[in-house]
Amino acid sequence: MRAAFVLCALAAGCTGFHPPLSATGGAAAGRATDASAAAGAIWIPSWRPIGASRDGRPVRMSRLGRGPRRVLWIGGIHGDEREGAVATAQLPLALLREPGALDLVTLTIVEDVNPDGTAQGTRGNARGVDLNRNYPAPNFRPSRFFGSRPLDQPESKALHDLILDERPHLVLVAHSWRGDHFVNFDGPAEALAQRFSRLSGYRVQPSDGIAATPGSLGSWVGGTLGIPILTLEYQRGHDPWSAWFETRAAILSVVMSARE
Ligand SMILES: [Zn+2]
Repeated sequence: MRAAFVLCALAAGCTGFHPPLSATGGAAAGRATDASAAAGAIWIPSWRPIGASRDGRPVRMSRLGRGPRRVLWIGGIHGDEREGAVATAQLPLALLREPGALDLVTLTIVEDVNPDGTAQGTRGNARGVDLNRNYPAPNFRPSRFFGSRPLDQPESKALHDLILDERPHLVLVAHSWRGDHFVNFDGPAEALAQRFSRLSGYRVQPSDGIAATPGSLGSWVGGTLGIPILTLEYQRGHDPWSAWFETRAAILSVVMSARE
């Protein structure tokens, strides 16, 4: 697995779909140096669990960089929306290739908040709860599908605790949307969303322009905590490599800087 991944990372024009990065990180993995950045594109993540799913799968994170700008990338929260999986795997490598980026940014990657849903191919977790409706925002609505109270699902609690620990300056989360693609934002993120739009061609879709999302991660992170959050809605079924290439420059720009 590791050899295959490294070969792919080094190969120009790699076009196959690959699973998320290997869990075989060594002690130094995830703390790549500028020397390794100059040498190319090897980043072997050091995953560590931040919690476990209903069915006992790890919800795991890895970290890269040492900069003052703290950015959290969430690879997915709905199990049937995996169009951002390649972006999740490739973003650390892309950041490594940006001169000085590791001194600017500390990037935390959460691979997948909903590993049970991903394994089942379902939107919700193993209990059928939509984790993106399970956050302690004022608009939380108890229901069988949203949870009886905020954070009553272990996956959403794990991400909640990580966000409170990290207090990121920016959160990005990958989703997908049937028949459309756009970038949505919550909190003080309009300028970032506009820049993302200019660089990707994905239009900005304000939250009041889509269906209500009670108890969503965006409502809590953006509205309650006041942390900028961009929700990337790739088109459902879109090739994950194409999705990454379309949004790569836009993602790197907002990850690396809050300003133009
Ligand atoms: Zn979604």
